[in-house]
Amino acid sequence: MLEVKNLETGYGDVQVLWDVNLEVHKGETVALIGPNGAGKTTLLNTICGLLEPRAGAVLLEGEDLSSVPGHDRTRRGVVQIPEGRKLFSGMTVTDNLSMGAYCRRDKNEVRGDMAWAFELFPELVPLKDRPAGSLSGGQQQMCAIARGLMARPRYLLIDEMSLGVAPVIVDRLIVAIRDIQAKADMGLLIVEQDVGLALELADRGYVLETGRMVGSGRSAELLDDPRITEAYLGVA
Ligand code: ATP
Repeated sequence: MLEVKNLETGYGDVQVLWDVNLEVHKGETVALIGPNGAGKTTLLNTICGLLEPRAGAVLLEGEDLSSVPGHDRTRRGVVQIPEGRKLFSGMTVTDNLSMGAYCRRDKNEVRGDMAWAFELFPELVPLKDRPAGSLSGGQQQMCAIARGLMARPRYLLIDEMSLGVAPVIVDRLIVAIRDIQAKADMGLLIVEQDVGLALELADRGYVLETGRMVGSGRSAELLDDPRITEAYLGVA
């Protein structure tokens, strides 16, 4: 299990997260929803070790990761697909995928995972040798997800997968996520502005508002909650 316990984080004098608790179990998908500026990315960055908590802890299978730097968290299977994709734009698609596996020691299995990534996103096959920066937004998002998978995550954190992506491509990404859910025994934590999409993909969800968890539950319960549907789905 990936666990966040009583976490507090901020930037300089500004505190952003207060007493945040969250759990992601292996094999489940969890949505983190909330308005702009709620602290969702800040939470993901703290889980990944890019930000240091002021209080509380991140635990991986019960082990406190406080003293584990970000690159070692990746090696241990906590992998983030960041908002805005952050590909190596001058490098080819294949090289981006290889970079995703740079932390791995099981080099002989990397080739098989790359084949799986291209199977998941056949659209990327004819683009293998193209610089990632020359791809469309949707193709770049596919490349970013594929690169994340190359790290062989145990827990995959996906930040704003649908942002700036055409609806037809979002549908493709949903199919890919469903494939990942079916084939890989990993926990997924999905941060999405598109709350309907997040809860459609997830088993459970958490609601973060101005840095505090204000709700959680099974996706179906959250979709039935008028406070959620009014605030996030525009249903009066
Ligand atoms: P969005 O959906 O808009 O990405 P979010 O829920 O992911 O929002 P964060 O990006 O985590 O929210 O931002 C939470 C708060 O922290 C915001 O008030 C934001 O302005 C602030 N913040 C984010 N990054 C920094 C930074 N590097 N330095 C200072 N403040 C920051």
